[in-house]
Amino acid sequence: MSQGLQTQLIHAPAPHANTRGTSASLDLSSSFQVDPTQVGFSAMDLQTDAPLFYARWQNPTVAECEVALACLEQAEASLCFASGMAAISAVLLQHLSAGDHVILPNVCYAAVLELGHDTLPRFGIDVSFVDTSDLDTVAAAFRPNTRLLHLELPNNPILRLCDLPALCELAHSHHALVSVDATIASPLGVRPLALGADFSIHSLTKYISGHGDVLGGVVSGSQERIAKLRQDAGIHFGGCMHPMAAWLTLRSLATLSARMAMHQNNAQLAAEFLQNHPKVSQVLYPGLPSHPQYALAQEQLSNSSGLLSFCVKGDYQAVQTRLLQNAEVFTSAISLGKSHSLMFYLDSHALQASSLRLPEADFQRYQEWAKDGVFRTSIGLENTEDILADLARILGD
Ligand SMILES: *Cc1c(COP(=O)(O)O)cnc(C)c1O
Repeated sequence: MSQGLQTQLIHAPAPHANTRGTSASLDLSSSFQVDPTQVGFSAMDLQTDAPLFYARWQNPTVAECEVALACLEQAEASLCFASGMAAISAVLLQHLSAGDHVILPNVCYAAVLELGHDTLPRFGIDVSFVDTSDLDTVAAAFRPNTRLLHLELPNNPILRLCDLPALCELAHSHHALVSVDATIASPLGVRPLALGADFSIHSLTKYISGHGDVLGGVVSGSQERIAKLRQDAGIHFGGCMHPMAAWLTLRSLATLSARMAMHQNNAQLAAEFLQNHPKVSQVLYPGLPSHPQYALAQEQLSNSSGLLSFCVKGDYQAVQTRLLQNAEVFTSAISLGKSHSLMFYLDSHALQASSLRLPEADFQRYQEWAKDGVFRTSIGLENTEDILADLARILGD
């Protein structure tokens, strides 16, 4: 019988062959002694069982991290990158060529929107930005040259969900691939590959590394697709993960399920506290029955994660000032998924002008969720009472 996930993650790093050390070892070597008759010099010759050669191709510490992440994702294989954006851009640029069409969420991580608005069109790639929570809208966006549907689950910063199995079926019926950035849900919230996606992507910077001291990304999928991605995007684009980041990530994997349980518990209580607060007009959190897609959240997410967004009545600036000057637990900072609680105000009009660039009707729909702006809040692992007391302090109680 195979072992449980927690046991597998803790035991993923094999004992060091020479020292028999019981924890993962860190190998910072950039190249390895090789017999030239045993390796090819082109990335295109790289076999999955090839001897170690050069660290941009493969490094033993990064490889151990990849094995553990594949286990976490229940994937055949994983490939690590220097950041979440390196992982996402690798998938997009590997699978899209001039004349191809890609569908992106119209609300998602800002750097992905900007890549879609500004970079992909320079390479002759057509981009549609659609509300991926609406199946009919996505269905209408497919064209004969659509190669890829890229999704984000849930969508940053409004925590909007999508029906992943239905969207995968739809995309595959159009012979398009599906990649899912499930960073915010974490692999313990959702496993996109099991729901039909071709690629599952995570920014390791967030929940998986979990301590706010690592930049990294990962793409998981079939052995064949990941091997191809390693040859092309990994080796040629060169956005490979540093062994130190891989080592820190491996170390974090042992505590991921314990941390996610705490993130979810604290976030649920924080969301309920905020929802009952007189100065709060709206709370967006998939674990709240008031979330517009609560039924879908219950069905799709096995952990509601630690990210929530809320809107305040009246003057948001006073709240922002107290966050900067009086907060004792929360830090006014972007990012998410670390042990420290973080909060950052995202002004809807400023987002619209920079990364969203939605048509007017879609921007109005965005404002139904986000009003004039949200405090995007990453609930950390501090004591629940301290988190709630600080929320009250920030709201001016
Ligand atoms: C942070 C984040 C990214 C980008 O990850 P980096 O590691 O910062 O490059 C992509 N998608 C989502 C949903 C994120 O939260």
